[in-house]
Amino acid sequence: MSEVVANLAAVRHAIATAARQAGRDAASVSLVAVSKTHDAPDIVPVLEAGQRCFGENRVQEAKAKWPALKDRFAGVELHLIGPLQTNKVRDALALFDVIESIDRPKLARAVADEMGRSGLRPACCIQVNTGREAQKAGVDPDQADRFVALCRDEFGLPLVGVMGIPPADLDPEPHFRLLADIAARNGLAMISMGMSGDYPAAIRLGATHVRVGSAIFGARS
Ligand SMILES: *Cc1c(COP(=O)(O)O)cnc(C)c1O
Repeated sequence: MSEVVANLAAVRHAIATAARQAGRDAASVSLVAVSKTHDAPDIVPVLEAGQRCFGENRVQEAKAKWPALKDRFAGVELHLIGPLQTNKVRDALALFDVIESIDRPKLARAVADEMGRSGLRPACCIQVNTGREAQKAGVDPDQADRFVALCRDEFGLPLVGVMGIPPADLDPEPHFRLLADIAARNGLAMISMGMSGDYPAAIRLGATHVRVGSAIFGARS
């Protein structure tokens, strides 16, 4: 067994354990394998091991490697987890099944316009900057409810959830709670939170999707 396949099995096991400890069904947590910076030869063994849901943070990079992989493996579900520029919206809608990073009105409008033009309607999440970090994308938590209403009611986006990335050096749990609260009070079912370092805690606090990269693929160069 290759190292990435062993890692994948270990992550799946840890997800099931965290879910069980939280009194949740393991099937209520989806693993988004974050394959950014890794090329097809690294990703193929993970696909062969049955993983179908993947996360990428750059449209151009995903466009270069995923169409061929989607031809080879049926049932791939691709999530965009990085910032989206308005001039890449057309490519993003053509490639991704879920856009997790709707983070500003201008982008929400551009996505809605392109959905109308193309008829493609990937599910969307709003990204919330729970730590209010200047270098990080996402709406301010105080603006999240308004932004949900704007995306849903004004732009008619197929909004399904929230996504967030807690500050690197702080306890992530208050940030996970904040995201789960925003989802609950807005009737959004998908909660994308938790990465290699903290996904068990995210599962305990209600994550429906964990985005795990380095724990599967190894450190990124
Ligand atoms: C890279 C990335 C991840 C995965 O991070 P790891 O620590 O490698 O698991 C998750 N979410 C987002 C938004 C990312 O950019």
